[in-house]
Amino acid sequence: MKILISDSFDPSLPGKLAQFGEVFDDKARLGEAEVILIRSKTKANRDLIDQAPHLKVIIRGGVGLDNVDREYAQCRGILVFNTPEASSVAVAELAFALLIALPNRVVEGHTSMAEGKWLKKELKRTELLGKTLGLIGCGRIGREVATRAAAFGMKVLAYDVVPVAYPAITQVDGLEALVAEADYLSLHTPLTPSTRGLVNAELIAKMKRGVKIVNTARAAVIVEDDLRAALESGQVGGYATDVWPSDPPDPGYPLLHAPNVIMTPHIGASTSENLLRIGEQIVQILSQQNL
Ligand code: NAD
Repeated sequence: MKILISDSFDPSLPGKLAQFGEVFDDKARLGEAEVILIRSKTKANRDLIDQAPHLKVIIRGGVGLDNVDREYAQCRGILVFNTPEASSVAVAELAFALLIALPNRVVEGHTSMAEGKWLKKELKRTELLGKTLGLIGCGRIGREVATRAAAFGMKVLAYDVVPVAYPAITQVDGLEALVAEADYLSLHTPLTPSTRGLVNAELIAKMKRGVKIVNTARAAVIVEDDLRAALESGQVGGYATDVWPSDPPDPGYPLLHAPNVIMTPHIGASTSENLLRIGEQIVQILSQQNL
């Protein structure tokens, strides 16, 4: 089996895959690959698939499959896998880090001190204890966030299109009912036609004034111009995001320079523990194939 590692994985992965055949990371050899391993950088679109006549398996190390043209892969008889269980804790811990950083003014405190300022009086904080967290989408990652929020004494509500039965979470019937009650919102849906642009001006107008939003899901779940206007007016009091329309975003992306925004460069899945877990799942997937 010829395996192309197209994106960045744990350095131990090539050694673990040697049992299956030849492993290489030279993208110029795409035409030889029978298996391609990708994360989010490589787009397994029609164009890439057409350049790989021997391709039998695409494995996306991670959760979202929005960078794979699954329909075209299926037409070509190519199997597509992901490693959905591996990343939940890694992403939830980052979502929670962003959730804590927003009301604690961590980034403003650091940046102002690095600029030689002492904003002890200006940087007023608020606590998470007793506040309401609304989860939009409550699958694997949303539930891990809920566990952490409950430990901080938050009330956790969730809106999802499927039933959510999980300790510490009260499921709310309707997105508008959820946002009307939430002091914080954390997004955990996949990007699909039904979630694209879900957080728009109409929904934002129904939120509590000053609500803080954390996005570790996908950038396109929010309408960036609507959110920017809400950050400027104070309707949204803070936005913390790990996700971007492209990696990296275009320098003109409206939220890069909006007020009260905290940003990380799409590192939700990038813990060393997660990369090891992804590698283990890839080995398991390949062991089960009869190629
Ligand atoms: P999951 O499939 O376990 O959960 C997603 C939940 O969203 C499901 O319960 C689903 O029913 C719900 N949902 C789908 N459409 C919805 C809608 N229209 N309204 C409300 N809920 C809806 O997935 P997960 O493992 O929790 O991951 C969630 C997303 O996180 C991924 O799809 C991916 O986009 C993102 N992610 C980001 C990073 C990162 O690096 N920041 C890493 C991994 C995953």
